[in-house]
Amino acid sequence: METNKFIPLASPDIRDTDIERVNRVLRSGMLIQGSEVGGLEAEFSAVAGTRAAIAVSNGTATMHLVLKALGIKEGDEVIVPAFSYVATANVVELVGATPVFVDIEERTFNINVTKIEEQINSKTKAIIPVHEFGLACDIKAVMQIAQKHQLPVIEDAACALGAQQEGRRVGSFGIAGSFSLHPRKSITCGEGGVITLNDPALEKKIRQLRNHGIEMEEGKMIFEEAGFNYRMTDFQAALAASQMERLEAILKKKQELSEVYFNELRNEKISLPVVPGDRNHTWQTFHVVLAGGINQQQTIQELRQQGIGTNYGAQCIPAQAYYQRKYGHHSQNNYPNSWRAYSQGLALPLYEKLTKEDIQSISKIINKI
Ligand SMILES: *Cc1c(COP(=O)(O)O)cnc(C)c1O
Repeated sequence: METNKFIPLASPDIRDTDIERVNRVLRSGMLIQGSEVGGLEAEFSAVAGTRAAIAVSNGTATMHLVLKALGIKEGDEVIVPAFSYVATANVVELVGATPVFVDIEERTFNINVTKIEEQINSKTKAIIPVHEFGLACDIKAVMQIAQKHQLPVIEDAACALGAQQEGRRVGSFGIAGSFSLHPRKSITCGEGGVITLNDPALEKKIRQLRNHGIEMEEGKMIFEEAGFNYRMTDFQAALAASQMERLEAILKKKQELSEVYFNELRNEKISLPVVPGDRNHTWQTFHVVLAGGINQQQTIQELRQQGIGTNYGAQCIPAQAYYQRKYGHHSQNNYPNSWRAYSQGLALPLYEKLTKEDIQSISKIINKI
């Protein structure tokens, strides 16, 4: 690493071939939901191993559409992890239902499956587990509980494209899988999201809701529902599809870089993530936790001065202003692992454009915290 080179926390890799493919769509004049959207959907269903996929305008819209299509509404409860990007709970609020939070495991940052069942009651209508930071959660165990209580599972796989448990890819276990194409994820098109699913009736409903609630009957538009406009543009789909061709190479590179962190990071004041043997991590984020007594915000500032962009990794959702005001949760007591991950967590740079030498340099600095 040259001196004075700042390493940001994240930086998308947009190549000339990606730009060429976007330009082709722009020149064609077919800007919305054309052949690139259809192609991207086919790619996603192939990668996740589902019958179908539906591309939409962003990752949050994917979960909003699925909840809406499942008829989840006011008076219903949906189980979500207390630690995730806040969108996981916001979509539950957006359909008028109540998110019920479950704490996470300390080292995987995924939902603590053993604590799900105690939150299930007659109002519970769905479970949204998150494959946090790109690590598959114990989705098989989640599915067992869900099947016992006949609850649909929506997998928030926003940052986990390509992750798997026992060889089966995330996004294929639940009634629907939800992916994001935000620039912080492994592949991006700026804003974008994809739903993976098998159920034909659910697919039909979601496609309808994505496009103003329109159903075509004998060439006529029937406005069946008060739907959304959550469509994806074709030039975004072209960008995502072009990046998708490199997916396996991107995941391989990230895996190699993560190994450098595991080899180089040696600091008693920092706990490293854990990857259970039956699953893989796709390293959307390399997330460590600072020991109590180390000031997270001050550390982030000091690392910035030393040329490294870091940040906290995700929110303890019940502790955020809206949820705090509405429900008055006591996060430190009720969701201690989520609270610690939020208030002491640190996301380190890990993306395709970095080199092993970059990760070594970052590790040297982190080791001095
Ligand atoms: C990124 C992310 C989202 C939101 O996706 P957007 O495309 O930004 O709407 C939701 N959940 C998780 C876990 C995420 O990482």
